[in-house]
Amino acid sequence: MGTKIEWASLGLPRRESWNPIGAVDIETGKRGWFCIKKNEACRECYAESMNRGRLGNGLRYAVPDLARVRLELYNIDQPRHWRIPRGIFTCSMTDLFGEFISDEMRDKVMDTVDAAHWHRFALLTKRAEQPTLDYLTARYAERPFPRHTWFGISIGNQAHADQSLWFMQKMRDLVGPDVVLWVSHGPAIGAVDWSGWEFIDWLATEGESGPRARPMHPAWPRADRNWCIENGIAWYFKQWGQWTPHLNGSKPPDTAHAPKKFLRLEPDGVSMRRVARKKDAGRKLDGEVWEQFPARP
Ligand code: SF4
Repeated sequence: MGTKIEWASLGLPRRESWNPIGAVDIETGKRGWFCIKKNEACRECYAESMNRGRLGNGLRYAVPDLARVRLELYNIDQPRHWRIPRGIFTCSMTDLFGEFISDEMRDKVMDTVDAAHWHRFALLTKRAEQPTLDYLTARYAERPFPRHTWFGISIGNQAHADQSLWFMQKMRDLVGPDVVLWVSHGPAIGAVDWSGWEFIDWLATEGESGPRARPMHPAWPRADRNWCIENGIAWYFKQWGQWTPHLNGSKPPDTAHAPKKFLRLEPDGVSMRRVARKKDAGRKLDGEVWEQFPARP
């Protein structure tokens, strides 16, 4: 189905999200999705909130609920029937490399990804770890990694970046120079020093959304933008999220009296304002929209 996520176009005129791995609650028979939270960046997972809403099976994205889940493939061939090329965010409601998904099921998804070469598939995982590397290394031992796949990992803060750098270096060796390797700094819950990551092709930055969203300090996307400019790497600013810099008026609000609407962030006391809808916060950084994609044929 079409998606509101702008970056999912991957530079093509059309964009979709494709969720071929669904989850049935074996107690209630309700359909939805499933995942297991990986780290603190998953805390406000949008997919889980959808799954616990009207459209989902109500399960939490947590280990105890795994016992109630039966995973199923849906619409596994759908991208083969879309004749017009499009960007496809694959498995936006779960993590394709999650330990709860079998290699056989993952293979079915990747078979479609490999075959539908006229599209661009965005894969995005929080599992930047050895089993993911082992799976991909085995799968592509005898054939090239598909050039129309943009392989990304999701990083929230410096600790995640430090844990993941080795993985992406290995991925570069595996996929070669022509496949897009990218990083989603999202939700950005901390600053990241990207020194050593100059081999990636694309960085996308986003603040968190949702009722308990954590604010993104403006210094974090500015540092991402500046690093990308310095290194000739495409940068995409997805959103501020639920908090935006408070620019109106010269006097910062007294956050002690409005803690739900305003926050001051360390270390410089920058003032952030909560918005009702994330689109109210916009997608501009210092007055500019950043929608760069790596150049690809
Ligand atoms: S890995 Fe992604 S889909 Fe899974 S819980 Fe975390 S944020 Fe949600």
